Amino acid sequence: MESPLFIYNTLTRKKEEFKPINPKHVGLYVCGPTVYSNVHLGNCRTFISFDLIYRYLLHLGYKVRYVRNITDAGHLEGDRDEGDDKFAKKAKLEQLEPMEIVHKYTLGFHEVMRTFNTLSPSIEPTATGHIVEQIEMIKQIIEKGYAYEIGGTVYFDVEKYNKEYSYGQLTNRKLEELIEGTRELGGQDEKHGRLDFALWIAAKPETLMKWPSPWGWGFPGWHIECSAMGRKYLGDTFDIHGGGMDLQATHHTNEIAQSQACNHKAPVNYWIHTNMLTVNGVRMSKTAGNGFLPNELFTGNHPLLEKGYSPMAVRFFMLQCHYRSTLDFSNEALQASEKGLQRLMTANRFIDRIKPADKSTVDVKDLNRSFDALSDDFNSSIAIAVLFDWVRNINLLAESKESITADDLNTLRNTFRTITFDILGLKDEQNEGSKQGELTGKLIDMLLNMRLDAKANKDFATSDKIRNQITEMGVTVRDRKDGFDWEIS
Ligand code: AMP
Ligand code: ZN
Repeated sequence: MESPLFIYNTLTRKKEEFKPINPKHVGLYVCGPTVYSNVHLGNCRTFISFDLIYRYLLHLGYKVRYVRNITDAGHLEGDRDEGDDKFAKKAKLEQLEPMEIVHKYTLGFHEVMRTFNTLSPSIEPTATGHIVEQIEMIKQIIEKGYAYEIGGTVYFDVEKYNKEYSYGQLTNRKLEELIEGTRELGGQDEKHGRLDFALWIAAKPETLMKWPSPWGWGFPGWHIECSAMGRKYLGDTFDIHGGGMDLQATHHTNEIAQSQACNHKAPVNYWIHTNMLTVNGVRMSKTAGNGFLPNELFTGNHPLLEKGYSPMAVRFFMLQCHYRSTLDFSNEALQASEKGLQRLMTANRFIDRIKPADKSTVDVKDLNRSFDALSDDFNSSIAIAVLFDWVRNINLLAESKESITADDLNTLRNTFRTITFDILGLKDEQNEGSKQGELTGKLIDMLLNMRLDAKANKDFATSDKIRNQITEMGVTVRDRKDGFDWEIS
């Protein structure tokens, strides 16, 4: 039996035992990508972290409704309602319709997610598909007195809200401190307060993506889409809301304010924030221009890369680090992960070579430390370290230097594979990748068996020829007492 699940809740800054609102069910909302350009590896880290969380919740037997939205409207360049619309700007640049931009990059995002073997969310709602729900929510916030309209733009009144609730809980900041940190309202600013943010933005004559509303033609602010879609699919209060740490101070802080003002209930019980992927210590981002695209990594086609890495090596690299720690991107770290993944996959294949014995000299229950780690705030880093302890044991068992009973072997096989494939979401690219991979494996086995026959017949010329040629093709062969091992290097 696994230990109870503890989650680090950003709202309380503590690890708390996870208690879902409805036993056995979990409502999980994760802020998805803004689809105006290709996702970079930093974005991927966040989505892979939540894929692990989703997979582990499923493993624990929860029925999870996992909602991950697509932001396809309303995200201006600055997080605080300034700048151009990201989609319109990109559309002008690429000479496409904004919805062509959205379609192109949504498809690209899905492709990348599939390559990394992430499970699809249960629902993937779009902001443009939920304009009605967003308008409805804004109307309710105005009715309740927490928003005001000026010239077709609707602002959320942060100071008014803060009188009854407390704004800024997620970052543990007081309103006065937050106001200090923002610029003073300029002469042309129409907002009442410096922290007020737009729920609805009036269209300008050149605005391409706009919808009719009670306040005239316009488009929704960025934050309202997640409040409206979270409420629609998961209810006024749901279990878990996640996203990258960079969303904590503004996007999620404003989501809480909007939802609480509208529904008079805290929208989320557990807030999970993933830490950033960095390059030489600097957060990877589109604006910083230090974003690696997944494809550049797979092909190695980037000035900072020494070679290409497989999608699973990259996934493994990310999971070797706990989601709340920063992860710095480097060739050395990726190479180490690539080797580590190979060791893990080789051990997995070796499990099938272990012959059961009368007694066990290893304790398979020890593998449960992996589940304990995952139940301790999804600590994949420790879970993987436990797997590596077992790689050593598996090698010893395969060489008959340790022994194991048939029952224990069964447990070992099932547990090792559940953690590696179902929960960590890894794939044995070499072995399982494709029919071709399987065929290659069988052909190598066949050739090496022919070599053994040749050796038995003292036909050393043939046996050496096979070994040399197969080695030249990049297959490392190791002779064993009872046969051979091979590995594609
Ligand atoms: P965006 O497409 O910019 O809205 O971001 C999509 C998701 O990726 C959000 O949850 C961000 O917090 C997350 N994200 C952006 N940059 C990074 C990074 N360098 N490391 C990890 N997550 C990131
Ligand atoms: Zn969001």
